[in-house]
Amino acid sequence: MARRDDDSWDITESVGATALAVAMARADETTSEHPLFTDPYAQAFLDAATARGWRRPRGPMAERIRAISGYAASRTKWFDEFFIAAGANGIRQSVILGAGLDSRAWRLPWIQESAVYEIDQPQVLQFKAEVLQSQHAQPGTHYVAVPVDLRQDWPKSLQAMGFDATQPTAWSVEGLLPYLPADAQDVLFERITGLSALGSRVGVEAFAAEFFTERYLARRRDQMRQLREQAGAAGEDMPDPEGLWFIEERAMVTEWLSERGWQVSMIEADDLMARYHRAVSPDAEGGSMPTEFVEAVLVEHYES
Ligand code: SAM
Repeated sequence: MARRDDDSWDITESVGATALAVAMARADETTSEHPLFTDPYAQAFLDAATARGWRRPRGPMAERIRAISGYAASRTKWFDEFFIAAGANGIRQSVILGAGLDSRAWRLPWIQESAVYEIDQPQVLQFKAEVLQSQHAQPGTHYVAVPVDLRQDWPKSLQAMGFDATQPTAWSVEGLLPYLPADAQDVLFERITGLSALGSRVGVEAFAAEFFTERYLARRRDQMRQLREQAGAAGEDMPDPEGLWFIEERAMVTEWLSERGWQVSMIEADDLMARYHRAVSPDAEGGSMPTEFVEAVLVEHYES
């Protein structure tokens, strides 16, 4: 499905369904022999989506999700630790951007008097609320849903819901940047910086420079073509996830943040997976995924 500047989606369609793919990975991890984390709600999201007509990917697409399961589990664990460390440093306010079916507000041990704001499309957050309610899930924090498109004036909506820009904040940007064009990525980080008190933190899953090399992009196109052919031969529909991505060169997140008052550290995806003893996907060449996990603390206010 082609993207439009003003497109919106429900959980079972377009970009919304990508949140289900991540929930699939979390459900599989939860029931694996040695899970890195457990997400007791992931399966309930999948069951509710199936009841609404979503068809769980099978065949080549399911294999692809399984192939990157080590990456997906490591990513979840890294963001879990990011929020726990922020809380241990006294940060009580968190914002999860493009939250999808992230259930951290319900499953992490939040410190007292903390608040978690989640931003995503209205229909995605509505679906999530209904499923969690059906599970009698109780958040371990003051939870606030902020249903707004990230291309609109979300800082206004966030503040209207009680967000306090004078308090340090922990922000997460996980599984989100590919769905934003390059200039929207800059706007996102400008807004985060503008709303951040000193001591705020941001955790980001960002593209590494290798992602934009012709060698990597050609290999990726080739992989997707093969997957589509295999799916076609098996009589299955294979949605093209790349049709939802904005594959265009963009600012390197580490540099962008360092130049604007953030103190930055970074770990590459394959090093992160090694830290958690997770094998690199067999179809990856020279590493897991060309992404990096960036953590930054705001140490000075940047004057433009
Ligand atoms: N961060 C979650 C996770 O890792 O489980 C969800 C990742 S999912 C791949 C991408 C999410 O970003 C979806 O829930 C989608 O609705 C949300 N998203 C993408 N673009 C958005 C936009 N312009 N406004 C609001 N949400 C958006």
